[in-house]
Amino acid sequence: MTSVPCDIPAIRAALLAWYDANARTLPWRTGPGEGGGQGATRDPYRIWLSEVMLQQTTVPHATPYFLSFLQRWPTVAALAAAPDAEVMAAWAGLGYYARARNLLACARAVAGDHGGVFPDTEAGLLALPGVGAYTAAAVAAIAFDRPANVVDGNVERVMARLFAVDTPLPAAKPELKRLAAGLVLDDRPGDWAQALMDLGATVCRPRTPLCDVCPLSDRCAAFAGGSPESYPRKTVKADRPRRFGTAFVLVDEGGRVALVRRPDKGLLGGMLGLPTSSWQGQPTEAVPPIAADWRAAGSIDHVFTHFALTLEVQTAAGQGDFVWTTPERALADLPTVFRKALSRVVGAGPRS
Ligand code: SF4
Repeated sequence: MTSVPCDIPAIRAALLAWYDANARTLPWRTGPGEGGGQGATRDPYRIWLSEVMLQQTTVPHATPYFLSFLQRWPTVAALAAAPDAEVMAAWAGLGYYARARNLLACARAVAGDHGGVFPDTEAGLLALPGVGAYTAAAVAAIAFDRPANVVDGNVERVMARLFAVDTPLPAAKPELKRLAAGLVLDDRPGDWAQALMDLGATVCRPRTPLCDVCPLSDRCAAFAGGSPESYPRKTVKADRPRRFGTAFVLVDEGGRVALVRRPDKGLLGGMLGLPTSSWQGQPTEAVPPIAADWRAAGSIDHVFTHFALTLEVQTAAGQGDFVWTTPERALADLPTVFRKALSRVVGAGPRS
């Protein structure tokens, strides 16, 4: 670590003052200082929903989904009562479908076991199905002003820079968490968590930190060392493996598209999608879902967390025992990988 005096009260005062003046306006938030205190008025349902959506995606991408969920299911009880398929369809495009299933499991536990009221402690939240350490800490801090240590990738990056931690990720995670914990106090813990998130998202950005407008620049060891963007240090990662498969776009006489529901377990589990072959490490001959006059319609690439996928797309006219829907509906509701494949045949939707 580069040596910079670690003055915790000064760091906290500078960041909270910056937050008071610069907090992002977000639809799930109250402003700085609002709703503080134990049993605060901040809505834990909104905060929980937003935190689940925001894991691994950005605020601009998650916001329309958040607003749509809130409109359709304004309370945790309403969400708990929603059919699985509707929630999964509404989640399509956010990715990480296991989260949608966990979301429903959690909503049903809150509605069924807790009278529709979220537990107000980190431990109580952590005991809910599908709620991990990060979400429990975030909801405890932001909704209930508990002094929880809320550490996501943004906060790890700020800590790695502030303290110039040379250990590469992921080995540095425990150290970064400990450093973040040292800055959490009983005073304004919800605002503190959000201030760190906002700093990481808008100022201490991954590639180009805006150190000249950062409230912590005179306390930041990485800035003092001259190359803040080189933190957090990273272990060089191997490329994602690639898999190959075929997606089948079967269109009936009315122009509708055939869909199948995927098995509950596994990638995109429980979602509607195009019929596909299995996805293998090498391109292989695929068996179509029905005998028809199949023709090639190009290919698409898609990147999942653990692998990249190349899908050849084939299309044919035909009928059969499928879930049939209009192309417009499919392009609106299907997970992105299937929308890309469908767009090879019907012409609209994401391409890469
Ligand atoms: Fe991040 Fe730069 Fe601020 Fe340090 S000074 S916390 S590197 S934005």
